Amino acid sequence: MKKSISNVFEMTFQAESVNEGFARVCVSAFCLQLNPTLDEISDIKTAVSEAVTNCVVHAYPNRKGMIKLRCEILGNDIKIEISDEGVGITDIEKAREPFFTTKPADERSGMGFAVMEGFMDKVEVLHGENGKGIKVIMTKAISSNCAVLVGE
Ligand code: ATP
Ligand code: MG
Repeated sequence: MKKSISNVFEMTFQAESVNEGFARVCVSAFCLQLNPTLDEISDIKTAVSEAVTNCVVHAYPNRKGMIKLRCEILGNDIKIEISDEGVGITDIEKAREPFFTTKPADERSGMGFAVMEGFMDKVEVLHGENGKGIKVIMTKAISSNCAVLVGE
């Protein structure tokens, strides 16, 4: 009989571009227990890359800082939270608009949040706790519908 699973992992790492691939691989490896399709894994990796890259590029312009990643599986849903304690975003609604960027147009395209929305079912962007940074919460239902307990 199929069993519904719940599982969580959390990690914190420095906001360096080299860690973007590391975070992506960690999340995708964790998701494997939901038996996702290659397309679903690819979508999740892309969304994680965009959120982590945003922390690396925008959150800490003048100093080193940390990125927190929390990943939760509940049934067939995956919920990914990526947060920083950096400069934050004053107008989140504006920042989420396609093609909006605060960087020069030849550096960034302003499509990160749009990409996250395109590849995940739901994307929330919240002001960080303690008034610092932002938290991006992304959820996606894994359609494979064959969640089993790892090892069973
Ligand atoms: P692209 O992702 O296409 O390279 P971009 O990063 O500028 O360009 P988005 O990812 O959509 O585009 O982000 C839009 C804007 O939101 C950014 O230009 C930046 O001003 C702001 N932003 C996004 N993430 C953060 C963050 N973690 N901290 C501070 N500002 C952020
Ligand atoms: Mg971006």
